[in-house]
Amino acid sequence: MTSENPQAAALDPRLAAIRNFEGKYPRQLWWLFLSEMWERFCFYGMRGVLTVFMVKKLLMAEDTANLQYGAIQAFVYTMTFVGGFFADKVLGFRKSIGWGGLLMVVGSFTVAGGLMFSDAPKDLFFLGTSISIVGTGFFKPNISGVVGLLYHDGDKRRDAGFGLFYSGINLGAALGGYLCVTLGENYGWQWAFASAGFAMMAGVIVFGLTAHTLGPLGFSPLVPEGTVATPAARNKILGVYIGSLLSIPLILLLVSKSELTDRFMYTVGPLALIYFFYDMRTCTRIEVQKLMAALVFIVFSIFFWAFFEQSGGSLALVATNNVTSGSLMGGVEVTGIQVNNTANSLFVIFFSPLLGLLWMWMKKAEPNTVVKFGLGFLFLGGAFAVFHSLIGFADESGKTSLLIFTMAYLVMTIGELCLSPIGLSAMTRLAPKRMFGLIMGLWFLASAYGQYLAGVLGAGMASVDENAPPLQRLQGYTDGYWQLAIYAVICGVVMIAISPFVRKLMHDEK
Ligand code: GLN
Repeated sequence: MTSENPQAAALDPRLAAIRNFEGKYPRQLWWLFLSEMWERFCFYGMRGVLTVFMVKKLLMAEDTANLQYGAIQAFVYTMTFVGGFFADKVLGFRKSIGWGGLLMVVGSFTVAGGLMFSDAPKDLFFLGTSISIVGTGFFKPNISGVVGLLYHDGDKRRDAGFGLFYSGINLGAALGGYLCVTLGENYGWQWAFASAGFAMMAGVIVFGLTAHTLGPLGFSPLVPEGTVATPAARNKILGVYIGSLLSIPLILLLVSKSELTDRFMYTVGPLALIYFFYDMRTCTRIEVQKLMAALVFIVFSIFFWAFFEQSGGSLALVATNNVTSGSLMGGVEVTGIQVNNTANSLFVIFFSPLLGLLWMWMKKAEPNTVVKFGLGFLFLGGAFAVFHSLIGFADESGKTSLLIFTMAYLVMTIGELCLSPIGLSAMTRLAPKRMFGLIMGLWFLASAYGQYLAGVLGAGMASVDENAPPLQRLQGYTDGYWQLAIYAVICGVVMIAISPFVRKLMHDEK
């Protein structure tokens, strides 16, 4: 698999050295793992405190805070398309990651500073969040793109690499989610946001100090490595930096007026797709077919995230109002909401390597990417069937089983692992390298729509009377979860049914 690879001969020797690595993972992956871990610490740390902070500190009404939260999430993932696009065309991955990371540092400290030194913390909260949204757009898709660049085209170890990277994502998510909320609640919200800022600083420093190990990878397409930027190139690069700063007030406006979110979401997706097709004009027929396969994955992933992201909305409410506290496997006492907010990440960290081993152990019987996607949906359906069963375990006061709730998260996480890291890996296998940023941006844009739809679905399930007793409210949600289970299974079956066709488009060698 390593030195015999025919592509190696034509490569820059440093690139050949990176891609002809021995063992399971390229060395550089560990640095990317760490940088992304800190970025996700910052991201999930801020995300974890957003709604509570808006309600408790900014004294916003709960429904406004929820809408606001949904809008922020949708904008974050929408900006990844912009960040991915400019990485391909102008900045390259290295500059994009550095710039995005820096903006995220500034964004977090702006919110923290507002709380410490200003008497208008709400204004600085929105400003800081908007800066972080733009920063995430430049960081998030592009660091995943670099992971894809570490592999030769046919290298079978790519999925395992993204599996490890995904553990890093969730390690950061678990630590940030836990620490920032704990700091915020016990020592003051400014420390939640400040710790997110310090974490992001660590991410930028790790990336900056280790970028040299990437050899010739990730430079701006306008300034090939070792050359001096022409004035035209310099202007374009400067233009992207300035343009992204100028976009902050626009995001600020959109975020603070969540009624504009709908219109924004209706416009951005179609525009992104039109551009995607336009960009395909320079592709060969095979490249176009592979990109169409990537699009199938992207479209399906919208539905996956729409169901999955109930965790930030309706499942959080069920966890708070209906799930009993208790100790799991004889451990410490935990509440439903603690399980809701941390179980998924912990399960990913634990099961991601195991699933990687399982795929390797299955050798030739390892399911192909399309079937894995289908399995992801089937597990998702199974998870919602388990969430549905919570009603059967409820007592008259509407309290239900912590263990069953946790088990449902376990099943959902297995589904996520069949789809999310595999999807990242597939994007970098299916797109030509010059379009890595764009395709990653599109992949995450699907998450933006997933987030958006998740809110719509959650609101639909919540339409029972606000003052209804907890048992009746639980019934409303669990009925909805049964519907989601059915739709998820349908998606899975369709995906598996169309797998021969999609694999033809993928030109999958397996
Ligand atoms: N939890 C993963 C991450 O943060 C996947 C997010 C997504 O694609 N919606 O990267």
